[in-house]
Amino acid sequence: MATVRRVTPTIRFCEPCNRRETRLALRAWQDSLARVNDDFPVSPPRAWAEIDLTALRANLAVARQACGVAVMAVVKAGAYGHGLEEIAKTLAAEEIAFFGVANVREARQIRHAGVATRIYLLGPTWSAEREEIVAREWTPCLSSFEEAQEFNRLAVARGVRLKVHLAVDTGMGRGGFVAEGLPATLAALERLEGLEIEGIGSHLPSADEDEEFTRRQMARFETIIDELGGAARFRWRHLSNSAGILGYANGVCNLVRPGLMLYGIAPLPGFQPQLRAVMTLKSRVTLVRTLPAGHGVSYGRAFVTTRPTRVATVGIGYGDGYPRHVSGHGAEVWIDGRRYPILGRVTMDQMMVDVTDGPDVPEGAEVELFGQHLPVAEVAANAQTIVWEILTGITPRVQRCYR
Ligand SMILES: *Cc1c(COP(=O)(O)O)cnc(C)c1O
Repeated sequence: MATVRRVTPTIRFCEPCNRRETRLALRAWQDSLARVNDDFPVSPPRAWAEIDLTALRANLAVARQACGVAVMAVVKAGAYGHGLEEIAKTLAAEEIAFFGVANVREARQIRHAGVATRIYLLGPTWSAEREEIVAREWTPCLSSFEEAQEFNRLAVARGVRLKVHLAVDTGMGRGGFVAEGLPATLAALERLEGLEIEGIGSHLPSADEDEEFTRRQMARFETIIDELGGAARFRWRHLSNSAGILGYANGVCNLVRPGLMLYGIAPLPGFQPQLRAVMTLKSRVTLVRTLPAGHGVSYGRAFVTTRPTRVATVGIGYGDGYPRHVSGHGAEVWIDGRRYPILGRVTMDQMMVDVTDGPDVPEGAEVELFGQHLPVAEVAANAQTIVWEILTGITPRVQRCYR
């Protein structure tokens, strides 16, 4: 009978990749593979995302400086693809007031990470989720009287008072009470003894697109608060997302809800120099060949070489969340200090890059898709979408490495 030999797997690095930073970044990957592969050396991942936690803290400091009030760090969608638990742990050490999440599952993940910071649910809740929300004292925002009544019933049954925020729809059209009749609604809510109306919030639909509308919306929010009894009536008053924080004064608000800017991207491009990209998406060259003129590259042969072309194949594709739609829009990657154009269509696991005009690019060379040297905003523009979608679309196959 064969005996099982247990060896610690090692990563074999190609020479240009054998940098200390890369080795550190890949340790987590090695650990994760140790459980499934005892006998053979493991190769490095084809695609990974380096997450710079120092940059994250620096971006939080910018948000604080810009507004000078308390922060609800928005960490929905796995902290915009950066990994919810690590990001929450890092930000919790910076004394933020709340984490903003999309659903109960994300709230649980934060608690499982051992983080005790208050949690705010950014959208409406299902009835089936409310018992847990009350039991764990997470903070919902209310959009309807029915929601409020059920939270009240559950809180009374437990003998607690649940802190809730009143969501007001001042133009987003996604949730919250509309402004008409709000004073009467608030009066009714205040009669529910299981609830404490601790805060009031609203959301900006176009702070990065329409300054005039946003200014009017902000003024309207202040008027609403006045009509409800004034700022002192609410412990927390919040309206601004990243664009609101960077581009506008706070007014009556004492809490802001930054998402994107924490991850180093400014929705108003003029503020980009103040921020540092947190995620750098990387891959490696897996193959380099010279193709003759007149040779098609990738599916559909959307690109055909017009000269003898050094083509590097890179181990990342839309299966990792890199958008296929950049194909044909002049998208580039970054290798060792230079940009190189992507050729033809991005495939599921691989893409091709023209390295003819640079110095010799060796197999195994590290490739940056976006991040430190190449703005993700460029990738989003080439893909005709927004940065939020690119970041949250990076798939689980991409190993997140924290430093
Ligand atoms: C997502 C979200 C934010 C954060 O928006 P950014 O533009 O990423 O800063 C803030 N508030 C609410 C209600 C959200 O849903």
